[in-house]
Amino acid sequence: MIKVDRKENPTFNKYSDNIVKESLKTDFNKKCYLCEEVTRHFEVEHFYPQKYYPYLKNEYSNLFYCCQKCNKIKPKNINTNSDNEILNCCEVDVEKYIKLKLNILECKIEIIKVDSIKNLDTQIDNTITILDRIYNGTDSKSNSCEDLKNEIVEIISEFQKKLEQYQKSKLKRAISKDIQRDLDIKSSYLTFKRWIIRDNKSLNQEFKKYIID
Ligand SMILES: [Zn+2]
Repeated sequence: MIKVDRKENPTFNKYSDNIVKESLKTDFNKKCYLCEEVTRHFEVEHFYPQKYYPYLKNEYSNLFYCCQKCNKIKPKNINTNSDNEILNCCEVDVEKYIKLKLNILECKIEIIKVDSIKNLDTQIDNTITILDRIYNGTDSKSNSCEDLKNEIVEIISEFQKKLEQYQKSKLKRAISKDIQRDLDIKSSYLTFKRWIIRDNKSLNQEFKKYIID
């Protein structure tokens, strides 16, 4: 999950209005806020469910860009009380607390708690549980996660190859430009890419300026 800074401020009557979809597309960079896949097939999700919070039904700050798969996997009763809340990526810089790492050998996505603060601890743990379900598929609803995992393996392996090339090459400029594009806010699976950079001292020195919002 990547921090989303909302810039759009649409005027609308209903959350299903086209202008809402267009604004969410812009604000979320066409990425599902949960899995970080770049996709045009999305649903307007209510972060706080409309059933429990009807007054937030048409509140733009409660509307999120979510892919169909994640919207299905996500439990319906989430964010209905303080025990089942997840981190709100429009308010919290989730990467400060959660690291995503592709374990290619075991073909598994590792979701690691890297930090915590008291008032967010439950939300962090709940977010980790949901991300594990989305990326690694721990229930019957998420058997489509193999496709997602395959795509992440492909994209992240490609990114790692570029980084290796960069480290070996004497002509770094062209590869560096390419890596910068991969680190752009519009790029998919950014949490994975950013953490590869952060975890490598020399790469972090070179590229950290591109991973600061
Ligand atoms: Zn998703």
